[in-house]
Amino acid sequence: MPLIRLNDVSKIYHLESGDFTALDHVTLDIAENEFVAIMGPSGSGKSTMMNQLGILDVPTTGELFIAGENVAKMSSLERTHMRRDIIGYIFQKFYLIPLLSAYENVEYPLILKYKKRDTTGRAAGYLKAVGIDEEKSAHRPNQLSGGQQQRVAIARALVNDPKILLCDEPTGNLDSKTGLQIMEILCDLHRKGKTVIIVTHDQKIADYAQRTIRLADGRVVDS
Ligand code: ADP
Ligand code: ADP
Repeated sequence: MPLIRLNDVSKIYHLESGDFTALDHVTLDIAENEFVAIMGPSGSGKSTMMNQLGILDVPTTGELFIAGENVAKMSSLERTHMRRDIIGYIFQKFYLIPLLSAYENVEYPLILKYKKRDTTGRAAGYLKAVGIDEEKSAHRPNQLSGGQQQRVAIARALVNDPKILLCDEPTGNLDSKTGLQIMEILCDLHRKGKTVIIVTHDQKIADYAQRTIRLADGRVVDS
């Protein structure tokens, strides 16, 4: 069993105007330590797919296996725990908490998980690894550049040592030079064993991946 398996997965939204099929019989495997890009026009189902891969949602029909577990058969608490254990999320808009310092933002998932302050300095290590020094770590997000904020967000995503990094347009808010620096960090994490899945509109960004999954109207048209 690969790390991720979608077996005939459909996602149907029930709207007042009728049912809308956002994912249409998708069958797909992603192996551990793959680096995959997901591309497709707006409305093709990329966010819906990321919500499935991120265990934020379950298929309407079909089966989704993550790390061998059938996600639809898990309780919502089990899904929450699995999400925290094996997935790190990185977003276009960073979503750092404005009132917390960079360090506190990175420490936050540890506090959620262990219900107490982590005293091992783990957050500092991850910040250093993505190029945020001690001085910058004390800054709040609005005192950092976009590229620095995304580095902090990557450190936050790494702090629980997830197997999978789900990146939704991670360079979408950055100039191209800064975006490529962020891609270098993601490539390095891939080399160190992470499974990296990235949604992008930018072919130059997708070129970093080993494989591109193309969606159109909720279907995989190329993988
Ligand atoms: P993409 O990320 O490729 O732009 P999405 O997965 O966001 O595509 O959306 C695919 C289609 O599903 C869109 O037409 C969108 O309107 C619809 N959709 C997405 N999420 C929902 C939702 N929660 N409820 C209803 N419709 C949705
Ligand atoms: P993105 O730029 O990531 O594709 P979208 O604008 O497609 O963002 O969607 C943002 C979020 O809103 C998605 O997670 C999706 O589930 C939800 N969404 C998209 N379209 C709809 C819709 N028609 N109704 C309800 N929720 C939607």
